[in-house]
Amino acid sequence: MLQEPYPELDDLLEMMGEAGYHLAEIEASEGAAGNISVCLRWPLELRTRFPVVNDIELPKAVPELAGATFLVSGSGRRLREIIDDPTSNIACILINEDGLTGKMYTSYHRRFDNVTSEFNSHLAVHYDQILSSGTNFHAIIHAQPMHLTYLSHIPRYQAEQYLNTHLLRWQPETIINLPEGIGFIPFRLPGSAELMAGNIESLRTHRVVIWAKHGVMARSDVSVKRAADRVEYAETAAKYEYLNLCVGEVGEGLSVDEVRAICVKFNVQQNIF
Ligand SMILES: [Zn+2]
Repeated sequence: MLQEPYPELDDLLEMMGEAGYHLAEIEASEGAAGNISVCLRWPLELRTRFPVVNDIELPKAVPELAGATFLVSGSGRRLREIIDDPTSNIACILINEDGLTGKMYTSYHRRFDNVTSEFNSHLAVHYDQILSSGTNFHAIIHAQPMHLTYLSHIPRYQAEQYLNTHLLRWQPETIINLPEGIGFIPFRLPGSAELMAGNIESLRTHRVVIWAKHGVMARSDVSVKRAADRVEYAETAAKYEYLNLCVGEVGEGLSVDEVRAICVKFNVQQNIF
């Protein structure tokens, strides 16, 4: 939930650009992989930056979000290029009163026809989170960090308890920033209704979720960059785990008692360790 003064459109575009650029820096967004969206519920003037208006049907009815604005990366666009030219790479969608359709505002210079093919998951998770928390701002990132995605191919990491006790043992920051741990969704087809349903459910109880053999989705009700941080914390944990596997698992990691002591000191509620 954000307090006034609310970020302006240009501020939001800049933060999406910085987050996208950093995701590429940490090798979580090769080629045109990954997508970013934010939902905000205060009025924004869209036409100056995005003068082309098209009517669109939403992938899901969201009646309670009538009047809300989404900023969404375009299909096939590179997250690392948003920072250079945000209006070519991002669309704004203003939800109509019926909650079934919207107006898509874009630039004359837009380099895409549609928003990301994962918009169904983005919209559904924004909707679910906003209905449950009442927040006026929500950001979602899908990225493809290599080490997390690689570990999701190894069967024993496909169980959440094993995954989390092994990944959250390498640095004190990990449990502090991801106290609910990392969620896990078995392989689902990209853009599918099954992946959307998995995201809604897992992101109710986690801030970041692994899509097996594909990537991750992270959320924040504070900023796009906070959502990107969550991708990075989870990926850094996976890098340590991968490193440990490579050297024959000689690292001991933080003990259960050490993790619990960190949680007491920093007032972290968790039930993983
Ligand atoms: Zn993907």
